[in-house]
Amino acid sequence: MSIRDNLFQFSSQILGKERTKFLFKAYDLASFDLFGKPEGAIGAIDVTNRCNLRCRHCYFFAHDYEAERELSDEEWLLKFEELKKQGFPFYQCSWIGGEPLLRKSLIEKGMGYFKSNMVTTNGMMELPDWKDVNFYVSVDGPRELHEGLRGKGTYDKILANAVRPDLRVLLSMVITRENYQGAEAFVDEWHERGGVRGCLFQFYTPVRGLENDSLWPGWEIRDKTIDVLLRLKERHGDFIVIPPEVLESMRSDRCQEITRNCLFRQVAFCFDPQGRVKKPCMMGPQADCSRCGCVLPFHLKALSDKHLMIRELFMFLRKQVGKRVFG
Ligand code: SF4
Ligand code: SF4
Repeated sequence: MSIRDNLFQFSSQILGKERTKFLFKAYDLASFDLFGKPEGAIGAIDVTNRCNLRCRHCYFFAHDYEAERELSDEEWLLKFEELKKQGFPFYQCSWIGGEPLLRKSLIEKGMGYFKSNMVTTNGMMELPDWKDVNFYVSVDGPRELHEGLRGKGTYDKILANAVRPDLRVLLSMVITRENYQGAEAFVDEWHERGGVRGCLFQFYTPVRGLENDSLWPGWEIRDKTIDVLLRLKERHGDFIVIPPEVLESMRSDRCQEITRNCLFRQVAFCFDPQGRVKKPCMMGPQADCSRCGCVLPFHLKALSDKHLMIRELFMFLRKQVGKRVFG
């Protein structure tokens, strides 16, 4: 048992498991984000090359994965054990795909290795009762616009599966030229409905090899949509989970410097369904970094700003203390 495990056990006996978990998380956040994330601290695992949808804007199908055999659960666990011996940090993992919930048993076995886990799902399957996991359910606007990208009948299935106040569910919208006008209605609708914790936004990133460059919103629409999201943030606060500084940094006059020196590419790990390292990021080598709309490089850049980080950490702690004091 490691020193950390011993400390955890000791502290749990005195403070209780929940409080100890919170303290350890706050410590990890502070040490990783204030002193720099070690290489491999965050990243993504494509657990499967299969999906129960075929969305028009999906980058996954730019790769020829379908024919290749995926690693079995046992092979993944062996890989994690190997990584452990090499000192892999096992901090934060996003389980992605394909549709990752098609390999629920693997995620269930694998998530114990990481301190923090996220599952990005299309919401077509019932969400498992994983209370410690952040689920990102993809919803690309109000019903009609969403189904234009993801297919008929998908919206009602999301309504049935994603409204889970007992879990940590966030919605994730990819903004394209076709759905950007629906961002406001989408946020208002879900804010009123309740049952999810917030909304995250990304812009569509063009991927070479996919014939859908027309989905790229262009810089003008991107900047205007950022204005809309900032207004929505004023209206709905934390329900829009991206800090205003991150949104500002995604503007056309600032974004390319950030994506040219993408911190995600520098520090994150990405594995494909065969367990191979995927470069430069989960979108694969064909992604056009100069037009990247993924929120992660911008978020990491903002976190590398120590002042902003201290403020975010302070707000996180205040929120947690508030929750514990006022329920
Ligand atoms: S649900 Fe995700 S992986 Fe599946 S086709 Fe759509 S975007 Fe691609
Ligand atoms: S596509 Fe975006 S996240 Fe991926 S390496 Fe390029 S800039 Fe970074």
